[in-house]
Amino acid sequence: MVTLKSYLCGSWHVGNGEDKVLFNPSTEEPVAVSNTKGLDMKSALTFARAHGGPTLREMNFVERGGLLKEMSRVLYEQRERLLEISRDCNGATRGDSKFDVDGATATLSSYARLGSKLGDKGFRIDGKSNNLAANARYIGQHVLLPRPGVAVHINAFNFPAWGTFEKIATAFLAGMPVISKPATSTSWLAYEMIKVIVDAEILPKGVLSFIAGSSGDLLDHLGPQDVVAFTGAASTAAHLRGYDSFLNKSTRFNAEADSLNAAILGPDVEPGDDLWNLFVRNIVTDMTQKAGQKCTAIRRIFVPEAHVDALEESIQDAIFDLKVGYPTEKAIRMGPVASAAQLKDVRAGIQQLAAHSDIVFGGAEPIQGLHAPEGKGYFVAPTLLRAKDSHNPIFHELEVFGPCATILPYSGEASEGADLIARGEGCLVSSAYSNNRKWLKDICFSVAPWNGRLQLCSKKVSDSALPPGMVLPNQLHGGPGRAGGGEELGGERGMGLYCNRVALQGDRLMLSKLLGFDL
Ligand code: NAP
Repeated sequence: MVTLKSYLCGSWHVGNGEDKVLFNPSTEEPVAVSNTKGLDMKSALTFARAHGGPTLREMNFVERGGLLKEMSRVLYEQRERLLEISRDCNGATRGDSKFDVDGATATLSSYARLGSKLGDKGFRIDGKSNNLAANARYIGQHVLLPRPGVAVHINAFNFPAWGTFEKIATAFLAGMPVISKPATSTSWLAYEMIKVIVDAEILPKGVLSFIAGSSGDLLDHLGPQDVVAFTGAASTAAHLRGYDSFLNKSTRFNAEADSLNAAILGPDVEPGDDLWNLFVRNIVTDMTQKAGQKCTAIRRIFVPEAHVDALEESIQDAIFDLKVGYPTEKAIRMGPVASAAQLKDVRAGIQQLAAHSDIVFGGAEPIQGLHAPEGKGYFVAPTLLRAKDSHNPIFHELEVFGPCATILPYSGEASEGADLIARGEGCLVSSAYSNNRKWLKDICFSVAPWNGRLQLCSKKVSDSALPPGMVLPNQLHGGPGRAGGGEELGGERGMGLYCNRVALQGDRLMLSKLLGFDL
């Protein structure tokens, strides 16, 4: 059993409270213990502000990108070991583990490349300068400067690798030190990855700190230049927003929260078309990848009434021989959900939705996972439901964070589809499938404002479009309303969270010399 340690003030620590035990979700065997009670969070913040921040701010983008490149390299060297830990830490299949672990190293590499493009400055110019007087001398220029505080990262349980490093990549490149806190239940993988980085001695003092479990009183000690980037449930985000520092010190808070992501089929697409097959593939991927525990997974499937039976058959065919179990071999295509608490929530959620639906396949009953000990493991069957009434609010409000999606029949009219999608009150991503430009245009302009990302699929991209659930470093991740209202990634855009925009006014020549840009 591994004892998870926290890396604070440049050394490893274990708390003095009762251990919290982490379990292999396929076997329910204990795998690690976490204990952060009594750790000095105030000093951790002070240390990162005093050492990590100044060092990073002195470095330019190329140098910061160099750190990210090294991090990616040393993690990649340990890839096989990390993939195995991922399996036993959160029940991930090899494919799911790659999605998480390779997603982390790829995002670090992507931001490393961005660093080399941004060049030998440590801050960015925002837009062109403006003349502020009749002469051309007195100008105003907006600049984006790294905040002289600490970026506190609070992550959800479902992506212990990617979630940790996608945030670190943007914060480091922007010039802020990080204190990273994974969700306790799957923190083992994040711990092992942070340990690889610390052991490699590639980061300057105070740049990276890590809390292996509960963050204690950390949020009580935040200051006005600190940032919290949170990923998790909307209810947790709502609770955290009430902290004094966010209310009274303008500590920045970014939330990536729940989302009832939608996929909508246009009335022109027929069963068996290329677009139909793409639609089915994307639904099946999102229901089963990471056992449906993806914030971007399709939860609501809008289909013209005439095609509901055919869609149910297509999804059923695609999922027919899917094997669920302990992912010790390739044949297993779906693992368990990540924890006992998750299992309880997912089963309760399926029961709630099923009370207003017909079950096409699956359900809330316990199932035996292949290769798992008899009666053990947090396994749930992939579950497809058909709503009895697509307007019932439960389908637009209850996020079941597991291998479950609901078919919501609609008329095929873009206006009705858009109205139903908007009832989710803000999504991370939605996808629409049609070759009818008028229908796609209507959907685009009515649905886009309710989403952080909108994938418009027509036959020209039916063989190249990525699954909508895949988050890319150069595309925005986040969404309005219920999805948290936050923004991460999107290339340079993601760095905005960690910077202050300042309008500098003065003599053009003096500002040009001082900033090192030709204004
Ligand atoms: P969660 O229960 O809200 O926990 C998220 C994180 O918040 C964990 O690290 C948790 O730490 C921490 N936390 C909880 N209470 C806290 C407090 N009072 N002070 C400081 N930290 C606190 O969510 P989850 O169960 O891990 O994740 C599932 C949810 O996340 C789903 O609703 C899903 O939609 C959402 N999600 C969203 C995205 C996105 O990008 N939008 C991505 C993934 C997941 P402990 O584990 O130590 O309690």
